[in-house]
Amino acid sequence: MDADLMARVLTGRRTLARRDTWTREELLAFQQHRLAAVRAHALHRSPFYRRQLTGRETAPLNDLPPVSKAALMAQFDDVLTTRDIRLADVERHLRDLTTIDGDPGRPLHRRWWTAATAGTTGRRGVFLWDRAEWGAVLVSYARATHWAGVRAGLLAPVKTAVVSSLVPTHQSAVVGASLRSRTVPTVRLDARTPLGEIVAALNSFQPRLLVGYPSVLRPLAQAQLQGVLDIRPEAVMSASEVLTDRAARDMQRAWSTLPNDVYAATETAGISSPCRLGNRHLYEDLVIAEPVRADGTPVEDGTAGDHLLVTVLFARTLPLIRYELTDRVALSPEPCRCGLPFRVLASIEGRQDDVLLLPGPDTPVAVHPIVFHAVLDNADVTQWQVEQHHDHILLRVVPATDRLDVTGLREQLTADLLSAGTRVPVRVETVPLIPRTALGKAPLIRRMP
Ligand SMILES: [Zn+2]
Repeated sequence: MDADLMARVLTGRRTLARRDTWTREELLAFQQHRLAAVRAHALHRSPFYRRQLTGRETAPLNDLPPVSKAALMAQFDDVLTTRDIRLADVERHLRDLTTIDGDPGRPLHRRWWTAATAGTTGRRGVFLWDRAEWGAVLVSYARATHWAGVRAGLLAPVKTAVVSSLVPTHQSAVVGASLRSRTVPTVRLDARTPLGEIVAALNSFQPRLLVGYPSVLRPLAQAQLQGVLDIRPEAVMSASEVLTDRAARDMQRAWSTLPNDVYAATETAGISSPCRLGNRHLYEDLVIAEPVRADGTPVEDGTAGDHLLVTVLFARTLPLIRYELTDRVALSPEPCRCGLPFRVLASIEGRQDDVLLLPGPDTPVAVHPIVFHAVLDNADVTQWQVEQHHDHILLRVVPATDRLDVTGLREQLTADLLSAGTRVPVRVETVPLIPRTALGKAPLIRRMP
């Protein structure tokens, strides 16, 4: 890790820690100040935002037009606030990382760190950050660890094991590569590696901090309970997939600590993570998050929006103002007793892509993930996945015992889908493993391509 970036992270961590003691009023004043700076910079330097914002200079944020990934990518060079780089340069750099085995921690033209989103549907998104912005990205991830109670310092290296994607264009790989240093000794493991090999690597490394997708953390928790895995992480960070209560309980039994459900996106870096009381707080000093309905109107507290509009308060090179994430997020009407000035998230229901459109009596019915979670999170299975097919739903399960009642499970899910308004056949398949995507994820719900 280069010394300048290291210094930025150390200073940034202290700056963020101080904000934990702010009052709500201080936080909101800071947020408005940063927002004004982001809007002014975008208006003057980005041809795209000049078109978006002219005539709306004094309009409240929620009157500004949302920006979709498709619009951002279609006009990428115009969105940029610098003329020193083009989309083609970023694409070439990302391609080189994949094909020539480059170091994802090495910035493009020594100035820009880049990453791409997976893009399971439609065009993939690409993003870039200059040195100051990349420092902010790293610091935002460090906040989650700090809130989880893990103390970092030169004398107490935070040995970190990350079990996720090693795809070099994935932001976690870029973060991992640029943090690699003596202060943060890190082992990175591919979630698609056979479990036995991951267990062996973790047993020998003995991480203080364990980070991964819940679909791999839960089998690891089971390996720990069986005595095969023997590690004592101070904190466990779960990211990138929906963390179910059942999976969280297994991890708590295994490691005597509740996993921290970290919510992040490539576009924003960290968005929220739990405080010491286990409530997920929004990083409102770094990002403004607005849950909205499909038509763009705001939802009430406690209700999940169809999209989440995010405004990234530290982004200057590629400003993101009311950028549309397809995540279904609800804000809590209740404050938390921990004293942090940041609002609490009530739920993260996963992505809009997790909502399945299934045949109804007249028109298709939107079936929300909660229908599947209600049945499957408490079933006798260690993992599950629902996959939509054109004439049926395929449910894959990894049985927890050899007494799993497959017929009962199918009947229960069929009945619940009927109550949700759709009469769709359900097929159940018991499998030893849930298939993983190229990024090593095992999504709970897969929409028909
Ligand atoms: Zn709290």
